[in-house]
Amino acid sequence: MPCSIARAWHGACDGIPDICDGVPDVKASDIAALLDEPACAHNKKEKSGCARPKPGASAGGCAFDGAQIALLPIADVAHVVHGPIACSGNSWDNRGTRSSGPTLYKIGMTTDLSEQDVIMGRGEKRLFHGIRQAIDRYSPAAVFVYNTCVPALIGDDVDAVCKAAAERWAVPVVPVDAAGFYGTKNLGNRIAGEAMVKHVIGTREPDPLPPEAVPPGITVHSINLIGEYNIAGELWYITPLFDELGIRVLCTLSGDARFHEVQTMHRAEVSMLVCAKAMINVARKMEERWGVPWFEGSFYGITDTSAALREIARIIGDPDLIARTEAVIAREEAKVRAELAAWRPRLAGKRVLLFTGGVKSWSVVSALQDLGMVVVATGTKKSTEEDKARILELMGDNAMMLQSEGARDLLNAVYEFRADILIAGGRNLYTALKARLPFLDINQEREFGYAGYAGMNELVRQLALTIESPVWDAVRKPAPWSHKAMVVAGPELGDSPDAEDGPDEHAHDHNHAAAGLAGAAA
Ligand code: SF4
Repeated sequence: MPCSIARAWHGACDGIPDICDGVPDVKASDIAALLDEPACAHNKKEKSGCARPKPGASAGGCAFDGAQIALLPIADVAHVVHGPIACSGNSWDNRGTRSSGPTLYKIGMTTDLSEQDVIMGRGEKRLFHGIRQAIDRYSPAAVFVYNTCVPALIGDDVDAVCKAAAERWAVPVVPVDAAGFYGTKNLGNRIAGEAMVKHVIGTREPDPLPPEAVPPGITVHSINLIGEYNIAGELWYITPLFDELGIRVLCTLSGDARFHEVQTMHRAEVSMLVCAKAMINVARKMEERWGVPWFEGSFYGITDTSAALREIARIIGDPDLIARTEAVIAREEAKVRAELAAWRPRLAGKRVLLFTGGVKSWSVVSALQDLGMVVVATGTKKSTEEDKARILELMGDNAMMLQSEGARDLLNAVYEFRADILIAGGRNLYTALKARLPFLDINQEREFGYAGYAGMNELVRQLALTIESPVWDAVRKPAPWSHKAMVVAGPELGDSPDAEDGPDEHAHDHNHAAAGLAGAAA
């Protein structure tokens, strides 16, 4: 029985079947189940990465944001955002994920719901025709439809519209019911993963490999990388090693992925969970449903890259692969350590304040220590208890963990610990630049990839270029027309070289500033 919203436009719907006889795809119980992820070791702990933020806390993106950033890198899919246009602007293209082929994912598509559409109940109709337009114009491998707050509130049956559209045009149309008010970005990641498990994975068998792609005398093994987003193309630092080892990456969920690859993930022999929080539910459910074992690993740093390759070979259990993996690790480690030797004197002993969250907080510590740098403190705001345990293991019992993420606290920590560089996410860029501090972006907006052995070369290059840039000396000097000495990001953030001349009790060099601020912080 069509609901009133459907009746308002059903007569003009071109004869599609009743599409409004259901209830919203995601129910409260579904959300509770996604939040209660048994594979999360920190699931029941106080600092669970899955917890809802408290009122007033910085929540990051909404669930829709999380769902879209998790799936947007699937490059040959039309990603249609069903909602007001601002939702689409919220997420579209805000990450540096790259594709080696199709660029359809770069086209922002939205049903652009207006007030009139809501009042007149035209949401489902707009969605149906929006899907048709995307298929007619771009011939996508599939269409993903993201439900957002407004259509979820007015009760659009996105599930049923997707089903009707898929039947009508014989193209997979996948509903991703991730209205922002369902919860956090992290929940959105899991909703996205759930949609893949429910509608996509297991719906196709992998294509046979062409004979020329199989190295003679080698058994090819298949793996998945889950939570790898190919930011700045860093996945491509790793894939040549897999090719050499005869390891076929069936799918990366979702960096540089294609829809048909996601469909075949159930045939992998092992899944590596590259980012612990995003889509852990996919790894667990694939193990339960199709028997694909999984482990958590990182491609940041020499040590962790070698450990990840070893673990893949160990779980697959092919003695020949294990031996060849060891040989590749030995060769690559020797090569990269030789290349890094030239940089080491320039970076060894430099003090780093690392301010990032989650898995990166320990995997990047490992990479920096490989370079001989000293990580003086690291942010743990988004880290789980397990992440913190790994940090303690790497940095020792004296590891400083920063919980606060305010600009003032961050700068206080930089000076208290006399950091030479701040490595953090893009949102801290202007805090650092206003304070005249060397800054390296480590988050998803970055322009350089740091994964694998080859990524270490890029990381070291960017660190040296940043720390040694002549701009820092230049901007810390007083302007020629000013009698006032420059403050190197003293307690008054943004203190300007053009400020009123006069005695300046904050004038001091970098180390003095550190001491002053340590006192202020205390
Ligand atoms: S919170 Fe709702 S309205 Fe805002 S961007 Fe997310 S889905 Fe759209």
